[in-house]
Amino acid sequence: MGADAGFDMVPRLGLGAEDAQKWALFITKIKDAYADDAQVEFGQHQIEFKAGEHPTLPLHGQHFLRFGSKVTGRIASETGVHAYIGVVRGLATQVFGTRIRRWSELNDTFGFYDWRDVYESARNAEAGKTKASASRFADNKDESDDYPFNSDNILYQTIEIPGKGKGLVARYNIKRGTRVLSEKPLVVAGGMEPQATHVLIASKLRTFSREQQTQFLSLYNNFPGRHAFAGNFRTNALPCGPGAAIGGVYPDICRINHSCRPNCHNSWNEAPGQEPHETIHAIRDILAGEELTISYDKGGPSDSRQAALHASFGFDCKCELCSLPADERQASDARRRRIQALDEQIGDPMTMMAQPLASLHACRALLDTLREEFPDPNRSGEAMATALIPRLYYDAVQIVGAHGDQARARVFAERGYQARVECEGEDSPATQRAKRLMQEPSSHAAFGACGTRWGTSKTAQPNKEAVGDKAFEKWLWRL
Ligand SMILES: [Zn+2]
Repeated sequence: MGADAGFDMVPRLGLGAEDAQKWALFITKIKDAYADDAQVEFGQHQIEFKAGEHPTLPLHGQHFLRFGSKVTGRIASETGVHAYIGVVRGLATQVFGTRIRRWSELNDTFGFYDWRDVYESARNAEAGKTKASASRFADNKDESDDYPFNSDNILYQTIEIPGKGKGLVARYNIKRGTRVLSEKPLVVAGGMEPQATHVLIASKLRTFSREQQTQFLSLYNNFPGRHAFAGNFRTNALPCGPGAAIGGVYPDICRINHSCRPNCHNSWNEAPGQEPHETIHAIRDILAGEELTISYDKGGPSDSRQAALHASFGFDCKCELCSLPADERQASDARRRRIQALDEQIGDPMTMMAQPLASLHACRALLDTLREEFPDPNRSGEAMATALIPRLYYDAVQIVGAHGDQARARVFAERGYQARVECEGEDSPATQRAKRLMQEPSSHAAFGACGTRWGTSKTAQPNKEAVGDKAFEKWLWRL
């Protein structure tokens, strides 16, 4: 027993020149500080501190995850390991800043990495390995920032998140559009009274392995009481498809916490020939160490979102958006109201029939508002790959298609398809539907339903390269 303390490097260093130079600078500082210290041994592949549990620093930074040791007990105090950790951490912070994460079990803070990963990395360092197999990158061409360090393919890990219970964090840098995980449900239920749900789940639990039982029972329950399993299900289930009456509970996906401006999207995938599963996709680039989040809310301004989240899940949302200064939050709330109003306008069939231009322009306004409310921090002027984007393009296909405009329907369908791939993957049934629509816009059930006043052939679009982006957009949106 005893308490460990130390610091972790998050995200870990890549293979690129910048990280290598920084590590070399850090190692020089260590050598300067400990040149005359007999307890510090400079080896061929690593520097060993003969104190406490002999923490080490590899000479290649790519192997480094953690510097730490037990800091309680006789050996720790006689060898002064606590002081070594303090100095090494200080020097590391000078070079790497906030990438250095301090932790100490003495004050209930814990390291970022699993010990399993730390040991594996240390073994690689000892063996002097300088390269890893490049087959496990998270769909990432830029290998310099993303150094896989484990033999599995898992892009996330479950850790304790202060104030939120358990949560999932990225183990690697993850690119926008990457499928982060996919899981089959432990339980699917819905459309039943709590008592019936409770009985159904109780009977299923008996067929589960011990591990599955623990997975289900350890999920947070906001509705404890007589029908406890039903409460557990109600708190955690994700609908099997938009608006579905049935929902599923998953071992890891149900640990993903909420954000009103999330970095992931969840979707139900019932593709033919596959077992139904829930997928999670990154809707913007995510850095190693960042928490993965999805949205549990149904939109709207912050007060209504927070009230709904509190009622259904029992927490007060303190996400990035809900924690904005008052003026910025008000601006976000105004955009949220605008999104709701535009949604209503777009969904109004009378407007679509009689004033299709107003409906189409509402789609365009919605796109602009989504770009402001969900900006992708790495793509100037673009929205994150939220599922609201393919939905709005689908609406645009319907509007122009209903009036016989195949050319524009085709362009909108193509954009919808691309947006759908990013948040749900190529194999999602919704993506496949969007693809069919792109190939044959007139296959939509409502095609031409309002006449042919906008009638065009599907190839009647202007040449984008010849006319330029601006003129093309003007044509597309009938501006
Ligand atoms: Zn929030």
